[in-house]
Amino acid sequence: MSTSVKQLRVDKVSKSKISEVNFENLPFGDVFSDHMFICVFKNGEWQEPRIQPYGPLSISPSAKVFHYGQAVFEGMKAYKDDEGQVWLFRPEENLKRINKSSKRLAIPEFPESYFFDGLTTLLQLDKEWVKPGIGNSLYVRPFVIASEAGIKATPAEEYTFMIICSPAQSYYGGEVRVQIAEHYSRAADGGFGYTKAAGNYAGQFYPTQLAQEEGYQQVIWTDAQSHEYIEEAGTMNVFVRLGNTLVTCPTSDRILDGVTRKSVIALAEAHGIKVEVRPIKVSELVAGAKSGVLKEIFGSGTAAVINPILGFGYKGERYELNVPEKSYAGLLKEELINIQYNRSEDKFGWRYPIA
Ligand SMILES: *Cc1c(COP(=O)(O)O)cnc(C)c1O
Repeated sequence: MSTSVKQLRVDKVSKSKISEVNFENLPFGDVFSDHMFICVFKNGEWQEPRIQPYGPLSISPSAKVFHYGQAVFEGMKAYKDDEGQVWLFRPEENLKRINKSSKRLAIPEFPESYFFDGLTTLLQLDKEWVKPGIGNSLYVRPFVIASEAGIKATPAEEYTFMIICSPAQSYYGGEVRVQIAEHYSRAADGGFGYTKAAGNYAGQFYPTQLAQEEGYQQVIWTDAQSHEYIEEAGTMNVFVRLGNTLVTCPTSDRILDGVTRKSVIALAEAHGIKVEVRPIKVSELVAGAKSGVLKEIFGSGTAAVINPILGFGYKGERYELNVPEKSYAGLLKEELINIQYNRSEDKFGWRYPIA
C-alpha cells in the first residue's frame, strides 16, 4: 500500500442548520450536525480525506455492503465543559477498535493521522452542536462500508470511511429489565462477536423483539454452547454486584471490549471496590437474587454510560433486585461523568481536548 499523505480538504456549509434544531427534545440519533467526514479507499490506498456538508451519498445498488454486510462502526461522545472546551473520552481506543473490527471483516485499516485530523477538524467546525451541561453531548459515529459496486461474494476493493455526528441528551432508558437468553445466541467461538460489525446488531433485533413482547427491554446474551454463562447485553457490557464485589466476565472473541467497561473496572479498583473478572453463571444470579447477595446488575457503554438493570427473567421466572440506595452503578457513573465533563481530575489521562 502506498503511504503518500494527503491533505484534508474542507468544504463548509454556507449556512448552519443549527437554529432549526430543538435541543430540548432530541430523540437519540435522529438529527445530525452540519458536516461529515468522508474518505474513500480505492486503487489500494485511502484517497484524499474530506469534510463536507452532511447529506446523502450516491451509491450503487450492487455495492457489497448491501449484500454481504461488510460494515463496521464505532460510537463515542464529545462533551463540553463549563468553559466551552470540547473533550473526547479515550478516542484512541475507538480507532484501535474500528481497525480491529475492520481487520476481521477484511476491510483495510484506517490511518491514525487521517482519523484524528478528520475527527478534530470536524468537531471544531461543529462545536456549537456540542451543548454544555451534564447529559448533553455530541454522539460521534465513525463507520466503514464496502462501497464497491458488484455482487461477487468477495471482499470489496473499494470502501468508504465516514464520521457523522448527532447531538444527544442524557439518555435515560427508563426502567430496564432483561431477559437472559436461553435459545438464541449473539456470537460464537471463532466468530466476530468482539467487533462492532453491523451484522452483530441485525442478528439481535428479532430475539430482542421477542423479549420485548414479554415485557423486557433487552436481552443478556449467554454463551452459545451451554447458555449457562452470561456474556453481554445489546450494546453494553454487563457488571453484577455480588455482596460488595463487582464482577464482570472476561472479554473474548465473542465479547466486545468496551471502553466504558475497562474505565469502570479502573475506577472501581481506584475506589477500593473489589473487582473480579471471571465467567459468571446464570445460576449465580438466580441464587443471588433469591438470597439477596445479588445487589446490582448494570450495563456499561458509551450511549448510556451506566444503565442500572432492575430485574431479569430466566426460564419463565422473573427476579427483581433490591438495589441499595448507594449503588455502585450510581457512584461509578458520577465519577465517570465528572471526568468526561472536566469536573474532576483526570488521573488516568482519559480526556482528549479538541483545540
Ligand atoms: C459498543 C458496545 C459495547 C460498549 O462499548 P463502549 O466502548 O463502552 O461504548 C458493549 N457491547 C457491545 C456489543 C457494543 O456494541
